[in-house]
Amino acid sequence: MTQASTTSRAFVSLIGAGPGDPGLLTLRGQHALQHADVVLFDYLANPELLRWCPDARTVYVGKKGFSEYITQEQINALIVQTAQENGGQRVARLKGGDVFVFGRGGEEAEACAEAGIPFEIVPGVTSAIAAPAYAGIPVTHRSVARSFAVLTGNTREGGAQYERLSGVDTLLLLMGVRNLDSIAAELIAAGRDPQTPAATVQWGTTHQQRVATGTLETIAQAVREAGLEAPAVTVVGEVVKLRDTLRWFDNMPGFGGPLSGKTVAVTRTRDGASALSDVLRARGADVLEVPLIRFEAASDGGEAALGALRDGAGWLLLTSNQAVTALFALLDTAGLDARALAHLNIAAVGPSTARSLAERGVRADFVPSTPGARHLAAELPLQPGEAALHLTSQLAEDELQKGLEARGIVYTRAELYRTEAAAPDLNKLERLKNAAVITLASGSAARHLAALADADFNPLNMPVAAMGPQTADAARDAGFTRVTVAETASLDALADAAERAVVDAAG
Ligand code: SAH
Repeated sequence: MTQASTTSRAFVSLIGAGPGDPGLLTLRGQHALQHADVVLFDYLANPELLRWCPDARTVYVGKKGFSEYITQEQINALIVQTAQENGGQRVARLKGGDVFVFGRGGEEAEACAEAGIPFEIVPGVTSAIAAPAYAGIPVTHRSVARSFAVLTGNTREGGAQYERLSGVDTLLLLMGVRNLDSIAAELIAAGRDPQTPAATVQWGTTHQQRVATGTLETIAQAVREAGLEAPAVTVVGEVVKLRDTLRWFDNMPGFGGPLSGKTVAVTRTRDGASALSDVLRARGADVLEVPLIRFEAASDGGEAALGALRDGAGWLLLTSNQAVTALFALLDTAGLDARALAHLNIAAVGPSTARSLAERGVRADFVPSTPGARHLAAELPLQPGEAALHLTSQLAEDELQKGLEARGIVYTRAELYRTEAAAPDLNKLERLKNAAVITLASGSAARHLAALADADFNPLNMPVAAMGPQTADAARDAGFTRVTVAETASLDALADAAERAVVDAAG
């Protein structure tokens, strides 16, 4: 018997998630997430980053808020074990800030090395520098500070350590906000001027960022009065004064608005939610994208659609982006390409449908003036007796058929793909429960979301913001009780409605 050589997929990416702002993940980190089978993420890693790995299994291994306390040794073992499972998997280990600045990333890498698992380190933006930066405090500055040190306020090494650091201009203290009193006292005892400016930045780079300032002598008191707690970075040094002129992030118009720091769930029933997510993020929201449907192959594997294509009706009607994607997937599986459509005219509904065709080198022959079945039925340039083939899902509504038949056009329909309900995974569901508001862009989003209601989760009493009066009616019909309606059909108006919903919920 010959021994088959197997190459295991086992691989671990230790990724620095950055300090909180999801825009501060590196491109390499994003790439590693996109290729992960399993993601093990931390308390300090912003869960919004999980949007880069929608298909991966995600496991929360933060030491904070973990139902049972999990030790570092257990986390190390879990990383190794997960990488070895199922014949080898790609594991993304997402850690707050930088991998090797505290947070024990070095030990996790050692565990991989010992187990013989290949790994990579993807450095991240550390909170030690980024939290001060978002507070308008540079850690070095010409003629003010030429050196900085990052230290932990947790290990009580105290005096001796601080004396060694006496020549360092800027001190950055991570962890141990609770020990600020004694740390400050020891720094003063070690020779630092009690009047040295100091600032503490909590949840830096996020829309929950809060800053307290004072001097080495007063900072502990200022932090107590402001009620700041972990996670926080304390900066000690003359550079703190620069905040007076360089303050930017917590001065921006969107900062501190009603959505600032709130979780807004964006339900998606099709592609295209990300534009709304961007608008909401710009207002400081933590966006949770919740896909409520998924697309599957037609029940006959597309045979009916292919047959109908070959029979060659004069016009092909594509009424969604997904129809285009599914059509080309089907052609590909059948060993065909765009030339199989050469004998047909094509009508596309909606700009993104036409765009998706164009991306595949096919120009739509007709796009109705306004998206919607009604407009296509009225405007399609066909004479009575001519034929149109609608490639769609099992959910196609009759409006298009009725409209075309009323004009004497021969309408046929073939099932190209299926639309099935999708339930969010447990992590997402947990975050969804805590969302401040849920946006609904269509009636079907409202119905799909209502269908998720069970003993553990009741979305019907949560505040929702609806895209327009029709969606709002559909939401009320589906049982939602707290519906705020956007005043116009735009993403900004929907974001405004989400803000009003949050304000009303608080008031
Ligand atoms: N590897 C991380 C540090 C982990 S130790 C990094 O490079 O940032 C955890 C400490 O990091 C916290 O106690 C706090 O001091 C700091 N920290 C992490 N994220 C922070 C944030 N967004 N704002 C302020 N401090 C933060």
